[in-house]
Amino acid sequence: MKNLWLKGKLYLDEIREACIEFDTTIKQIRANCVPDVEIPEGTIVFPGAVDMHVHVRGMRLSYKEDVTSATKEATYGGLTLIMDMPNTSPYVNDRNTIKEKLSEFEYYSRCNYGIYSGVPREDVETMPIAGYKIFPEDLEKEETKLILKSEKLKVLHPEVPLYLFRNMRGTWMELASLYMINGKRVHITHATNSETVRISKAMGFTVDVTPHHLLVPGERDCLTKVNPPIRDITERSKLLSSIPQIDAMVSDHAPHSKWEKSLPYELCPPGIAGISFTVPFAYSLAFKGILDLDRVVDLISRNPSKILGIKYGEIEKGYPANFTVIRKENWRYSTMFTKAGETPLDNYPLDARVYMTVVRGKIAYMDGEVLPVKGVNVFDKNSQR
Ligand SMILES: [Zn+2]
Repeated sequence: MKNLWLKGKLYLDEIREACIEFDTTIKQIRANCVPDVEIPEGTIVFPGAVDMHVHVRGMRLSYKEDVTSATKEATYGGLTLIMDMPNTSPYVNDRNTIKEKLSEFEYYSRCNYGIYSGVPREDVETMPIAGYKIFPEDLEKEETKLILKSEKLKVLHPEVPLYLFRNMRGTWMELASLYMINGKRVHITHATNSETVRISKAMGFTVDVTPHHLLVPGERDCLTKVNPPIRDITERSKLLSSIPQIDAMVSDHAPHSKWEKSLPYELCPPGIAGISFTVPFAYSLAFKGILDLDRVVDLISRNPSKILGIKYGEIEKGYPANFTVIRKENWRYSTMFTKAGETPLDNYPLDARVYMTVVRGKIAYMDGEVLPVKGVNVFDKNSQR
């Protein structure tokens, strides 16, 4: 592949006009060049965005969402790398199911990817996975104690196992679960309140937040039904104020079919779709002056890469050529390629829009169109990211 030159306004710890030379990795950055790709006025090139928490579904759950539809939607949302959760059908927690899921991604993924194993039924430590996902029902298992000693990342859904009782879902259930876990490289996902953030950090864990736990005004129907639940306005405002302590922002994209979400409230499955919302939302917070631009790049590019332990999420020589190009624009959010087009985030006013997504040096999305780019497993040492 011939090296390409891209010219435009780049985020290089400050925003300045410059050129990047790249193939699948960044070769050099310099002031001038004859560009192959020129980024238009009003757009800025940022490091490729990363989502550490996505439910792509696929395999036997492809009727909800499949790898193609989810990853097309991901590139429309500026994501260059997504991490998939194991609670699929089949459940991913042994060598065979890990291989099965990875081969599906290998064929169909339009962006880079990684997968988590559930608490495993056999030793999968040497497999090319991002780490392990620990669900509330895993907290008391003997096998969980074993993986807490692993060098790999452990992502905890913080609720105690009683969480099935939806009328008994105070923040204490989230906080209590934090004391049931310990070890290195523990990451707490979708904190719903500021105490979860504070205690997680005090215990030496990293922590993320979703846009819906900040924005959606409570659980009103099947579309807004989610685990853990959305808190009241006071908790949500406190959560927003704790963003300086939060490490990452994730979508927890959890698609379901239209008929599943039209079941009676007691029966419909929990989960909010919105994989393409996080990145434009995060940059909107910067353009509105609510967060510093550096903080936003930390939340969606740099910190997730650090937590995952990969060389990613920077525009720097030697890093993989993944870019998220953002345009300042007032628009209302809507989904484009996902099978789960209905989301409570629909129509939300945003100030930033994804103009282009570059994955491994190739344009994966540009101005409304997705191009057939193949992503790689960033945890496979043989694949070049
Ligand atoms: Zn989830």
